[in-house]
Formats: sequence, C-alpha cells, structure tokens
Amino acid sequence: MSGGILVECAHITCAYGSTVAVRDAHVTFRSGDFVGIVGPSGSGKTTLLKAILGTATPQQGHVTKKPGLRMGYVPQVESVDWNFPVTVLEVVAMTRTSRRYFPRITPDERRDALDVLERLGLAGLHDRHIRELSGGQQQRVFVARALFHRPELLVLDEPTSGVDVRTRHEVLHLLADLHDDGVSIVLSTHDLNGLAAHLPRLICMNVDVIADGPPLEVLNSEVLENTYGAPMEVLVHGGMPLVLEHGADDVSRRLGGTR
Ligand code: ADP
Ligand code: MG
Repeated sequence: MSGGILVECAHITCAYGSTVAVRDAHVTFRSGDFVGIVGPSGSGKTTLLKAILGTATPQQGHVTKKPGLRMGYVPQVESVDWNFPVTVLEVVAMTRTSRRYFPRITPDERRDALDVLERLGLAGLHDRHIRELSGGQQQRVFVARALFHRPELLVLDEPTSGVDVRTRHEVLHLLADLHDDGVSIVLSTHDLNGLAAHLPRLICMNVDVIADGPPLEVLNSEVLENTYGAPMEVLVHGGMPLVLEHGADDVSRRLGGTR
C-alpha cells in the first residue's frame, strides 16, 4: 500500500545544453512504492533519478520532497573505479561524512557498517578490497553503502546491468526484503522480463513519460513501441507479462536458426 508523498516531480524538464533528457515529466513517488523506470539507453532514466536525488536541477518544473527525506543512492556498477584502493568497510562507512581523504572510521561507524554488511550477507568481507568480490557481492556493498544512511527512499541506477542471472536474482530478493522492511525503492532498468515485469509499478520513458502503472497495464505493444521505437509483442505467462522482440525473428532467420 502506498502512503504519503516522498518525492513529487512536477512537470520537470532537464537538459544538457541543447539535449533534452527529460521532458515535462510529472511523476510522484510515495512511501511504500517499488517503482521501475524503463526505457532504452539515452532515454533519460539516470537524469530522472538525479532529479529525484537533487543532483540534477530541472530547467522547468520543480521537484518537491518530504521535509528531511533520507535517500540512498546506488550508482551503476559500471561507473565505479575498481582500482581505487579502498576496502569494503571503507566503501560503506566513508559516505556518512564528507571526509574524502584519509578517512578515519569511528568505532560507532565501524559497528554500524559491520551491522549493515552482516544484514546483506557480507559478514567477514569487510577488510577485502572491493575488487576482490564477485559481481553480486560488489552490488551488495553499494547497497550497504546506501543503507548506511538509513534511507526511506532507495534509488538504484540499473542495479542488474552487467550481472549474471544468479546475481540478478540475489539483487531482486535483497530489494524485495528491503521493501518488506519498509524501504521505498525507485530503480532504473532496461531489463524488461528479468526485472521490470516483477515490480508493482513501472514508468516507461523515452525523454517523455510514455506510461506509468502496473506492468500488466503498461507493458503493451503500443506503449513499448512508443518507448523503444521498435515493434514488440507481449504475452501473458502465468499472470506475468513477457515481452518479445520482433526483430529477433529476422536475425535468427538470417543466421539460419530454426524456430
Ligand atoms: P539513460 O540513463 O536512460 O541512458 P541519461 O539520463 O543518461 O539516459 O541520458 C539522457 C540523455 O542526456 C542522453 O541523450 C545523454 O546523451 C544525455 N546526457 C546524459 N548525461 C549527460 C551529460 N553529463 N552531458 C551531456 N549530455 C548528457
Ligand atoms: Mg542511465
């Protein structure tokens, strides 16, 4: 059940110079939400997340937040510099203050960081270099870092991009657990069948917001064609939408595959 408003984007337009990334988006995020933002590469997903976080300022419209709202951000794993010499504990605990160099983690911070690592199934890994972890563990470390602030709203940018199927399941279960614990979640993804179709609410965008609602309502050929600019078909399998890409038929025919 959704509750009070956490963030409201009122007709926001965000641009980088002459490139409009998000146009006239009017979307509201409430306590209890678990929302996926879907769209092709370059469709403005990251920019919309940044507008929610307040790190991108809209040229038009405005973003209103619940006063004192605590937010956690999990960046795309691909955007992380894995050579940075930092341990798991430091990744998690270094964010609470703005101290960036030669961080000294206080005993309280250390205890809180170890608690959150244990909660995410990362107990015992705190002294490892972040590079020495599996993809799923790395993703969890960044979730741990976001949770260290005890956020009411967790914002994740493509949490399953570049991870294998097993890690995707791990991340999905972790997010479902956090949501059960009362954390509201907004994430971006271009994984329609593996992630988006499982969420209670989707926002389909391609600069414009094309649709906003439950997957069974918004994942239809018309919305998908407007979002992705390519014909797509949707089957319902076991009560879940399953998106099929038409173009794939031609490719397999050209490559001599049997269908
Ligand atoms: P997505 O996350 O859906 O891939 P983005 O929000 O990253 O989309 O990008 C939306 C548009 O804005 C794209 O056309 C992209 O090239 C452009 N863009 C994103 N970040 C910048 C930037 N820092 N400077 C200039 N253009 C940008
Ligand atoms: Mg992005």
